[in-house]
Amino acid sequence: MLTEGEIKEIFLKTDAFLEGHFLLSSGLHSSYYLQCARVLQYPEFAEILCRDIAEKVKMLDVDIDFVIAPAIGGIVVSYETARHFGLRGIFAERKDGVNLILRRGFEIRPGEKALVVEDVITTGKSTKETMEVVRSCGGEVVAVASLVDRSGGTVDFGVPFATLWSLHVPSYKAETCPICREGKIPLEKPGSRKIV
Ligand SMILES: [Zn+2]
Repeated sequence: MLTEGEIKEIFLKTDAFLEGHFLLSSGLHSSYYLQCARVLQYPEFAEILCRDIAEKVKMLDVDIDFVIAPAIGGIVVSYETARHFGLRGIFAERKDGVNLILRRGFEIRPGEKALVVEDVITTGKSTKETMEVVRSCGGEVVAVASLVDRSGGTVDFGVPFATLWSLHVPSYKAETCPICREGKIPLEKPGSRKIV
């Protein structure tokens, strides 16, 4: 299994994790920028990361029947993790930007046991909504897993939770940003960095 250091290396070399001084879409400043889609675009990395998710879940000693994630960020994680279990991987998606629902003919049968996966957990809100989708179909959520947990370990799902990388990503208002105050690193908007 990969160490947290090896996982960080993979995120750094795929530009999924950047260190510097970033303007986030929330308007806050941060010394880190995380975008899991950038690492998951490489099948060889998606494979080894999700294999480790599967290994960690197997250590929880729970029986699962299928894997489910909230779209869009979780789709690849659901598919790839399910492959390591030899199970089906599905996703819930928002209808009109509101509630998560199952579409595309995906079905959960009453009593089926779910592993809910995510790329990154920040507040845990979409994870909890996905758990509700499973329960509303009569399914049971037996565990949650993610590539990255940036909640600082504060999220409680009420079921066993496995993550590969616990990461604290502090963010600051512009007026109180310590990186601005130090004045050494210019502020940049993630995505505008040229990859050469
Ligand atoms: Zn700043």
